[in-house]
Amino acid sequence: MKKITFSIGGVHPNDCKLAADRPIEVLPIPETLYVSMAQHLGAPAKPVVSVGDKVKTGQVIAEPGGFISAFVHSPASGTVKSIAPRADLAGRMVPHIEIAVEGDEWAEGIDTSDALIAEIPEDRAMMLERIKNCGVVGLGGATFPTHVKLNPAPGSPAAEALLINGAECEPFLTSDYRLMLESPKPILIGASIMQKILGGPKCYICIEDNKPQAIKVMGEALEELGFSNMVVQPLLKKYPQGGEKQLIQAVMRREVGSGALPISVGAVVQNVSTAFAVYEAVQKNKPLITNVLTVTGDCLPVEKQHNYRFRIGMPLSYIASYAGGIPTEAAKIVSGGPMMGRAIANIEAAAVKGSSSLLYLKESTTRRWTESACIRCGRCSEACPMGLEPFLLNRLYKGGLTDELEKNAVQDCIECGCCLYSCPAGIPLLDNVRQAKLQVMGIIRARAAAAKAAAGQANK
Ligand code: SF4
Ligand code: SF4
Repeated sequence: MKKITFSIGGVHPNDCKLAADRPIEVLPIPETLYVSMAQHLGAPAKPVVSVGDKVKTGQVIAEPGGFISAFVHSPASGTVKSIAPRADLAGRMVPHIEIAVEGDEWAEGIDTSDALIAEIPEDRAMMLERIKNCGVVGLGGATFPTHVKLNPAPGSPAAEALLINGAECEPFLTSDYRLMLESPKPILIGASIMQKILGGPKCYICIEDNKPQAIKVMGEALEELGFSNMVVQPLLKKYPQGGEKQLIQAVMRREVGSGALPISVGAVVQNVSTAFAVYEAVQKNKPLITNVLTVTGDCLPVEKQHNYRFRIGMPLSYIASYAGGIPTEAAKIVSGGPMMGRAIANIEAAAVKGSSSLLYLKESTTRRWTESACIRCGRCSEACPMGLEPFLLNRLYKGGLTDELEKNAVQDCIECGCCLYSCPAGIPLLDNVRQAKLQVMGIIRARAAAAKAAAGQANK
């Protein structure tokens, strides 16, 4: 099949997929787990257990706190020791349920066997309910509740394409790659379930051409399963290929408008790990209490690079220590990839559903160039996959011109870092554009709230 890619901007950072050949290992469960109530986009979950309660693995311990929210389940069996705020990886205090682990006794009705269940159920409502009840959220970074995304609001256009994102375009990360190699059929069955829920759009399994083995393995598994209306779509390697809007543009040649959702152009995008979680939820009634993360970085030898299946609630320090400890050369530890990831301020933070890496970077890799004046070379604009003008946004931000920032669509920035990567003047474009976006989004939200309140008054 012809390789494709998105047409605006993008950059080609070195792959650095140093853990690509390391099979997924299952981490042993530590003595204590700390389960965050804010593991998803939307309202935090509300605990439904009390201190002293006995819980089993996979049992619901928190329920959705709003329409956009998700169930949270116990990652092991044991006793609830505390329910209290605890610092997340950015150092923000977030409610956590602390569980003193006593074993791994699963709750009733969960299939923990390895048996593959390929037959797709007929009942769409049942499948959606299971995805919701199992707390499945998008594992490509956004952690948006999957049952909401698979059930577009009434009046939305019909889904014409389901894009399963296996691009994993961020350097260093290999968890999706390993999952594709080791569990291709569950991913494809999960994709087929979502296809059915959405009414049968064509499904594209999107994989960059720097992962030829994954393209091959997924293609063979697809042939064996015999799913029609589903194809493996190879993509030309280019960052940020895995961005939702970039993937839609590459495959469907459609542009998602400013502030619009993918469904507005008939697209639904889900990550390969989410497809795997959907398979486990629907076919096994198994809640999302595990995921795969990569322990990697340019200061680790090959034998210390790992892909681990972890349970939510494991302290990152525990994972780091199991993997051999934090290398002394690590100047920065990042959660996520080097382009879009966030620096970990608190290594005692607990792993969450969306955790994808512990990335150790050397000082020489993280060092920023000394900032100098913009030379108007235009490289940042050429690299921006959203068609923005980062040099201009930077200038407007420094001038405090929020109206102009909004007019120049700073809110469309996907925080990919292509501008920063391209700038020869070492200008912290990503940091500044991110801050500018935060300011403008705050203004847009306040305006929407005021309009809603005014409409409420008018209707009285
Ligand atoms: S971080 Fe934002 S402004 Fe910079 S290249 Fe990416 S989308 Fe464009
Ligand atoms: S890449 Fe840097 S130096 Fe070039 S125009 Fe953009 S901000 Fe200016």
